[in-house]
Parts: sequence; structure tokens; C-alpha cells
Amino acid sequence: MMFSLAATVALVLSASQVESDSERIQDGFRVTDIGPSLTVVADTEYGTNIGLFEKDGAILLIDPMPGEERLVALAELIKDSASGQVDCILNTHNHEDHSGGNAFFAANGAAIAEVSLEVCNAVFSESVQLITVQSHTDEDILVFVPEASTLFVGDVFDNSWHPTFYAGGLPGLNQAIDIIVDLANDGALIVPGHGRPAKADVVTQFRDNTVEWVTLIKRLHEAGMTVEQIMNVPEVEVALQRFNTERRDPFIPQRAYSRFVERTVEIISG
Ligand SMILES: [Zn+2]
Repeated sequence: MMFSLAATVALVLSASQVESDSERIQDGFRVTDIGPSLTVVADTEYGTNIGLFEKDGAILLIDPMPGEERLVALAELIKDSASGQVDCILNTHNHEDHSGGNAFFAANGAAIAEVSLEVCNAVFSESVQLITVQSHTDEDILVFVPEASTLFVGDVFDNSWHPTFYAGGLPGLNQAIDIIVDLANDGALIVPGHGRPAKADVVTQFRDNTVEWVTLIKRLHEAGMTVEQIMNVPEVEVALQRFNTERRDPFIPQRAYSRFVERTVEIISG
């Protein structure tokens, strides 16, 4: 009896060990090693997922967040986790929480892909694929790293918030998700702008939830309801909670909720 109990405990321990091996907290960052050449670093202040891809001693940095002190900490962490220098910076889109750290790393010799693509191409053209879509912003860049089987999609997919598909509406979101699911259909990891990385089925669910949300808001809006009335419909609250994958309580501030309904109505009307 004692023996089998001990064996069970040992098994449980080793299972949780596996998880903590690939994910650790370091200096306020959640660090996940995806493979030998790729690491995802989640900044705790902005929640932005930052990518570090190493190739031949060069490092591609994806979506550095802003914040003077935090950037110093990020630079230290890069020194610890990778063997090389940041040569190229890519941004999935130009919002501050994904590009605010560009200047900091550029001052230390990194090229910003948007400014000097040839420097980035020299090292990464064979190993990184860029696809432009229009969903969260007018120019969203999907960053695919086939050898690490990982796709960075920025805020086209957010795994910790409601969808923000304000530039492309539903057609833009659908088109972008089709491309994402297609690229990741062999089991590739999809790294959202914020929240935990996921597989294609989770992204498909996110799209389905969004379509359902828009359909519902459209019906209520066309029935003449105001934003405030729509917010208080129990069905709408349920539809909102489908995006609450982290089970936060409350999920989002009331102001963010009304803004989400307002912007959805704008998309339907526009
Ligand atoms: Zn963002």
C-alpha cells in the first residue's frame, strides 16, 4: 500500500515538473521555452507576448513592449536565455504595447524590420514567413516560424480579452483566422498578442464565439435597443463570458464592456 501511494505521488510530481520546466517566472516575466530556438516571454504589465527566435547567433525579437525599466529587465533576460544579439525587431502591428520597445533595442544596434527590412532579410528570410492581414489593424503581420512550428498572430487573436477586430470587421477576422488555421493545421502553436498560446481549435472557437457575438448584438441593435439595454441582456453576458478563457472575475471593467458593445454596433452599421 505504502509503495503504490508513494509511486502515485511521484507520478503527480513529475507531471507538474514537466509544466514548470517549459514555463517559469523570471524577473516579472512569464517565460515559456517553445523549443531550442524559440522562447515566448509574457510581460506581466502589458500582458504582451514577446517572441525571441534565435538563428545563427542572431536574435529576432517580436513585439517588444514599452517601459524603460521593464525593457532593461527584458534585455537582461534575453542575455540569459539566448546566445546572441537582437539583430531584428518585428512588430505584429504598430500599437504601443507591441512596438513601444523598438527604440530601446534599436539604440542597441537592432534593425527594425519596418525601417530596414534588408538587415532582417539577410538573416531571417529563409526561416521566417510574414503574412499581412487586416483585422485588428489595417496592417496586421502574422509571423510564422516553421522550424519551431509557431505562429505569432498579434491581436488578431487575443486569448485573454474579447476580440478587437475593428479594422477588418467580421470579413477581415474570418480571412485572417482562415489563414492562421491553415498555417497551424499540423499542430503548430499559435501565440496570441495576449494570453496563453493555443492550438488551432481554440482559435476556431474564438472565431465562432465572435460570429455568435456579432449576430446577437446585431439582432438586439436592430430591435432598437440601446447599448446599455444590450449590456443587460443575460444572453449577451453569457456571450461575453465565452471570451473569458482565464476565468477572471470580473472579466473586464464595465467601461470596456460598454465600449465593446458600442464598437460592435459601429462595425454592424459601418
Ligand atoms: Zn495588444
